[in-house]
Amino acid sequence: MDKLKWLQTIVLLHPEDAEAHYWLGQELEQCGQALEALQIYSAALAVSQQETQRLALIQAISSITSSLQAGSPVASLENNISAASGFVAEPEIETFENEDLTLENKEQQVHTGRAGLTVFSGGKDNAVAAQRGPAPIKFNDVAGLHKLKKTIQLRIISPFQNQSLFSKFRKKAGGGVLLYGPPGCGKTFITRATAGECQANFIPVSITDILDPYIGVSEQNLKDLFDKARSRKPSIMFFDEIDTLGYNRSKSSSSMRGVIDTFLTEMEGIDTNTDQILVIGATNMPWDVDSALKRPGRFDRLVFVAPPDEEAREQIFRLKLADRYMEGIDIPLLAAKTEFFSGADIENLCERAAEQVLEEILETGVERPIRMSDVEAVLQEVRPSTMEWLRTAKNYVKYSNQSGIYNDVEEYLKKFGRRI
Ligand code: ADP
Repeated sequence: MDKLKWLQTIVLLHPEDAEAHYWLGQELEQCGQALEALQIYSAALAVSQQETQRLALIQAISSITSSLQAGSPVASLENNISAASGFVAEPEIETFENEDLTLENKEQQVHTGRAGLTVFSGGKDNAVAAQRGPAPIKFNDVAGLHKLKKTIQLRIISPFQNQSLFSKFRKKAGGGVLLYGPPGCGKTFITRATAGECQANFIPVSITDILDPYIGVSEQNLKDLFDKARSRKPSIMFFDEIDTLGYNRSKSSSSMRGVIDTFLTEMEGIDTNTDQILVIGATNMPWDVDSALKRPGRFDRLVFVAPPDEEAREQIFRLKLADRYMEGIDIPLLAAKTEFFSGADIENLCERAAEQVLEEILETGVERPIRMSDVEAVLQEVRPSTMEWLRTAKNYVKYSNQSGIYNDVEEYLKKFGRRI
């Protein structure tokens, strides 16, 4: 069986495997079947949850759409994707909505006949990309983090769902929550799940979406994003790596100070009762976040998102291995062997094991499931990515926790610190 056929079979067997879709798309492109590749990438986008993977897919889609726009010859869509890949002829379509064209307008809008695929691409546009296609993530998809889920339920979801009750008691709904902790442990993931639970729009914002070298443009970008969130209520704005924005104002350049001030003004201007906007920030370095951002009415609640414990790791393995073709995998043993691994580390481990088996199948032509030995082989090569963060945190807790804001980290380190 040739490589293309193999990949088509694998995609057919594992429709949720975005990685396999990606490789099939690449192969189709190499075979000159651009439209089919486009369709496969779009289907992958609907199932992919990983930011980097989504980015690669978006890039692949926009590069094909650019060449299609430039008029390069392509096979007809009617040249049936269904026969080639087992996908229905009119698959679900992923739409990146972007009416917010006050931001620098870089979108490419391409209508490809029957599929009617609309693709918006370009850095800043991603800031307001609301994903409609894939089913929203819910709390059930997030392993562990029980205490955090409870806090979010109490502080975010209940007020959101009982607006009138909260206004009766003149209690402000929500308020900014700042999630912090080592990378890959679910800060973004749980925020997406929160939006899913509240049935709110999730609006991810990264600092690169805001910053612009021209005077006043960054501030305007930020205002536009808040306006966007207001026009899409209910919505949850998620500011990742907020430390880059709120990095100790006194040390920031004057242009950055303007952005921070705009941010504070916008945040304070939110009337949670009527605006139905919640702002959640995330940072790996809470100690670098300007204290102005941590005052009441702003990010007044810091919540530690710890690396998953053994029970949570087991659940993450189950989630990440679900529906894969595998045999004899001892998940509790893997959970025990992966202390300090983040959710992203575990996801990566599962992906790499699957990738290696896939490569072997492509080489030998003999299909086989993923086995325990495959995962253990990858495990030999990887280390948990949270260690550096935990060591740094140890120092901060020791020397700058007078106010007690890092008590949760302290508690965690007391429990596990000796092995760090
Ligand atoms: P962070 O924002 O803390 O850097 P992310 O939320 O982006 O990390 O996590 C990266 C990926 O790791 C997620 O997309 C998810 O697939 C996986 N992941 C992390 N934590 C969990 C968890 N608790 N349960 C399930 N998956 C998780």
